Amino acid sequence: MNASSIKFLPNFEHTFADELPGFFASLEPTQVPKPLLLQFNTALAKELGPDCDKLPPHIAEQLFSGNALPPDAQPIAQAYAGHQFGNFVPQLGDGRALLLGEVLDQHGQRRDIALKGSGVTPFSRGGDGKAAVGPVLREYLIGEAMHALGIPTTRALAAVATGESVIRERQLPGAILTRVASSHIRVGTFQYFAARGQVNSVRDLADYVIQRHYPEASEVPHCYLALLKMVVEKQANLIARWMLVGFIHGVMNTDNMTVSGETIDYGPCAFMEAYDPNSVFSSIDHAGRYAYGNQPSIALWNLSRFAETLLPILGHEDSEKAVSEASEILDTFLPTFQTQWYDGARKKLGLPRHQNANNTSEAERNLIDDWFELLTRHEVDYTLGWRYLADAADGNTCNLGSLITNRTELDLFLARWNELLNGVPTSEVAREMRATNPIYIPRNHLVEEALTAASDEGDLSPFEKLLQAVSHPFSEDVKLGRFALPASTQFTANYRTFCGT
Ligand code: AMP
Ligand code: MG
Repeated sequence: MNASSIKFLPNFEHTFADELPGFFASLEPTQVPKPLLLQFNTALAKELGPDCDKLPPHIAEQLFSGNALPPDAQPIAQAYAGHQFGNFVPQLGDGRALLLGEVLDQHGQRRDIALKGSGVTPFSRGGDGKAAVGPVLREYLIGEAMHALGIPTTRALAAVATGESVIRERQLPGAILTRVASSHIRVGTFQYFAARGQVNSVRDLADYVIQRHYPEASEVPHCYLALLKMVVEKQANLIARWMLVGFIHGVMNTDNMTVSGETIDYGPCAFMEAYDPNSVFSSIDHAGRYAYGNQPSIALWNLSRFAETLLPILGHEDSEKAVSEASEILDTFLPTFQTQWYDGARKKLGLPRHQNANNTSEAERNLIDDWFELLTRHEVDYTLGWRYLADAADGNTCNLGSLITNRTELDLFLARWNELLNGVPTSEVAREMRATNPIYIPRNHLVEEALTAASDEGDLSPFEKLLQAVSHPFSEDVKLGRFALPASTQFTANYRTFCGT
């Protein structure tokens, strides 16, 4: 069967390319010598179209390597700029990715389908345009874990080995990821045109984003301010949700921040083990710019760059007026983040929902702050700490006592917590907490183990087992005991992540 002639997805549409000429370069993916399907996401495929999950592997590997594209694909590399570690780079763009098109999924949501690692583009800047098996599978795994945790994210539809080597510090097997995103428009996409003084392009892009992601904004008089407000809210929510599961993105450059509010680009990311707001794992983040605890202020910094691109289209002759309006919206970021953070932490603690109000009370905030203080001081494994607290609701305080060894402190905390639980039956509290606090996250040592086996030995079984565990993060399975346990402190102390290019 000729792969390019089969309909594997609903019809491709190309609203980005159709409505935003001048925002991309058109080109075909580079052919690869020996595509081999490593992983196919049948659950996501089912979301995309009725028969997408039934794609035979020999066709899937042709399609998802870019060797044979459906006739209605129109591959494009998107232009964008970005601040990388605070320094502005006026041209980045898809240096190794191609957007094939957009589909309307089973829920009527528009989703981008893109290849990543499909060869050089006009934006490659000397790079080889390729990706290696390890980073491709890392992105696949972490994206699925985030999705299962209920966190907005781009997702992987497929991972295909290319049969050729890519040269990094050593030769590594190459691969291509198929990425599904609600769009690939980044803060850096706005910056690309703003930096060139192309105000009309910024306006066209803003109009496109409003129509695609924030149609409510078109119904109010100041639609671009409304857009800014909505993006600020989305990001405040996203960062709170990352932090509530201990996630560190690792490279929050403005080109890695979507305007849709989905997490994108799983390079040097990691999940924290012992709770420490200063945690940094990225080998290139020497100053700790993207440390766990800096993520809210960095998100605000990125959003300020976004706001700057919108200033000329806010409709004021007087630029000071535009700045003050935008600043007023940016000022809502940290309070919104805090509300989301405390609200999420309240749920994680199993505290009852308030009638008529979502906000946490002062007593609850104090309890939450003190819990985080306990976690920090006793270097408690972040994920286990919450799960063992759920056990404490069930009357078993031994597990938590093994992590917080000062019994007086622990008992004092538990007494205050019990008071705020306000008589809700403890079995109900424990059940709610176990549905909110994951037991399985992609722990760094397990991720490394799985990627090494896949990349060095072609053995995908550790990857598949881990993927299975993190795809059901809340339900404990006794057979998966070791997936719930932290790495040795020595492993974590020495753990470094790499950008994964
Ligand atoms: P990232 O660090 O993955 O967010 O990428 C930053 C920029 O570098 C983007 O413009 C990427 O397209 C580009 N890039 C990363 N890796 C490669 C590569 N191997 N070849 C070409 N461009 C790349
Ligand atoms: Mg990127």
